[in-house]
Amino acid sequence: MAIDTRAPARSDHADGGTYRIDVSKVDTAVLRRITAMAFRFPGRMAAGITATVAAALMQLLVPQYLGQAVDQAQGLLAGAVSGRTDRDAAEAALWTTAGLLLLVAVGRGLATMAQNYLGEAVGHLIGFDLRMAYYRQLQRLSLSWHDRVHTGDLMTRGILDIEGVRLWTDTGILRMFYLSILIGGGAFVLLGIDPVLGLVALAFVPIVGVRASFARLKLRDTWLALQDRMSALTKIMEENLGGIRVVRAFAAQDHEMAKFDQVSAAALETASRRVRLFVLSTTQMTFVYFLAMAATLWIGGTKVLSGTITLGQLTEVLAFMLILQMPVRQIGWMINSIARASTCGGRLFNVLDLTPSIADAPDAQPLVLDEGVVRFEDVGFRYPTWAGDSRTLSGISFEIRPGRKIGIVGPPGAGKSTLAQLLNRYYDVGAGRITIDGQDIRQVTLASLRAAVAIVQQEAFLFTASIDHNVAYGAPYAMRPDIERSTQTAQLHSYVSGLPASYQTLVGERGVSLSGGQRQRLAIARAILPAARVLVFDDSTAAIDAATERRIRDALAHFTADRAVIVIAHRLSSLIDADEILFLEDGRVVERGDHNSLMALGGRYRKLHDLQAGGGQVADVTS
Ligand code: ATP
Repeated sequence: MAIDTRAPARSDHADGGTYRIDVSKVDTAVLRRITAMAFRFPGRMAAGITATVAAALMQLLVPQYLGQAVDQAQGLLAGAVSGRTDRDAAEAALWTTAGLLLLVAVGRGLATMAQNYLGEAVGHLIGFDLRMAYYRQLQRLSLSWHDRVHTGDLMTRGILDIEGVRLWTDTGILRMFYLSILIGGGAFVLLGIDPVLGLVALAFVPIVGVRASFARLKLRDTWLALQDRMSALTKIMEENLGGIRVVRAFAAQDHEMAKFDQVSAAALETASRRVRLFVLSTTQMTFVYFLAMAATLWIGGTKVLSGTITLGQLTEVLAFMLILQMPVRQIGWMINSIARASTCGGRLFNVLDLTPSIADAPDAQPLVLDEGVVRFEDVGFRYPTWAGDSRTLSGISFEIRPGRKIGIVGPPGAGKSTLAQLLNRYYDVGAGRITIDGQDIRQVTLASLRAAVAIVQQEAFLFTASIDHNVAYGAPYAMRPDIERSTQTAQLHSYVSGLPASYQTLVGERGVSLSGGQRQRLAIARAILPAARVLVFDDSTAAIDAATERRIRDALAHFTADRAVIVIAHRLSSLIDADEILFLEDGRVVERGDHNSLMALGGRYRKLHDLQAGGGQVADVTS
């Protein structure tokens, strides 16, 4: 089932990524949308509503049969004393009522079972659809949006908000029918028995209903506050575990504990406030209820004695009160459930309604690869979050042909990685254009573009999976010999072969069981396996020693012979053999040429070279 996205589409490019919904308002449009989702399962919903109505009507019959039974039993007793009644007929009537009562109780039980089952089934189906739609949307939304939104928030939203919507659809909608029939029907019957007694008996309904609603709304506020605290705790924990080595290196465990302790204490305080609110409101409601019960007993008893109503009718009234007690309290639950669904749904739809700014153009065609020539034409770019005046990149122009290699060098933050990220459209250029074989990359399908361009990222992220699964991530149908060829080229094969489980060895969370250099070599193997026509190495050999790097380069020579290659590096030995080297500074190309011409120029490149040669970083390659 596709999730309704009829709301006006907003681009994720402009979206701020913060979702503070006004919790004091219930958004009826959001509720309508959620409710409509439930009715996408019309058969189950119709059966659920039928079962709910049946359960409520049978519940209404129980007090009436009880009252009838009491009157019949009383008649039987009175008859036995006076000897004037047909005892067999009276007994038969009592048995009939008892049988009816049993029948209604069984029927009600079955109807409630069906109601619960169908409601839960619809809720879980909606939860499943929402989860899938949400996860799919997170895969689609552009990286500039992900840059602005905290991962912890997205995870909380994906779990708690979907749960909030699901609860309304699985129990909320059907419970609304149930409560309306029970309270409305109950009031009708009670007032029919005796208007005064009915009013006294029903007096607790508005008081408890209103009190329960206010209490629930307050509880909801504290629930939201608690959710915020939990989200903050998740963020702290996530960051702590992600940066566990930094924490240990700086012996910052105490500082981290203090941070966690502070937020955890705030969460405890909020949870305690919730408990106090809950206990107070429950006690008040119970008190009001028993007060009404006592008044009903008093007035009802008087009326029985005066003969205005029968004992059976008083029993019926009291039984109704017993039955109504929980449903009336559930009015508060309903109101809370509605408000929560509105908030949670609002936050979810905010994400689901975004249109990714990086997506296939309506008339996008698959990239047609001929030679595989890449051109940057006067490219300019600024990150959406970038507050400065200057652009991250500006006036970048170059061309790479197959078999040629471009080197990009420059100080940290010069824009080197950004340049690589523009080539496979993680972001769109702000000015100029990038073409492959003359086709603007914005006009071709993303899938075909990303199949043509392989980037070995600066940070070699590994999935928690076996080594062969990690290597074959971009080519899931690759055969073992192909996987081994890639790892051989990346100089990783002999290491992997020596592991006890060889290629089946599980790489731990974020590849912690591999060294930095091994992770980078695995990332290289992964990037070259699908045999893309354009290869970008983004500082991907920084953690690999120069000798291994040279072996990788030699092994790659046959592979790169007919491919366009971009090498981004700080270590000049990585790109010294490039056909053209661009020296980037503050997003601009300030020097360009091959190694010899740049050395002859005697500018920044030369200075960097001399600095690194002094440290022995270039010597082993040039020698
Ligand atoms: P390094 O050599 O340290 O890897 P770099 O030359 O590759 O640096 P980039 O990563 O391209 O530099 O960053 C260029 C500028 O853009 C920097 O000022 C950086 O802070 C900024 N920047 C990088 N990534 C983002 C992002 N996702 N959102 C906002 N700004 C970013």
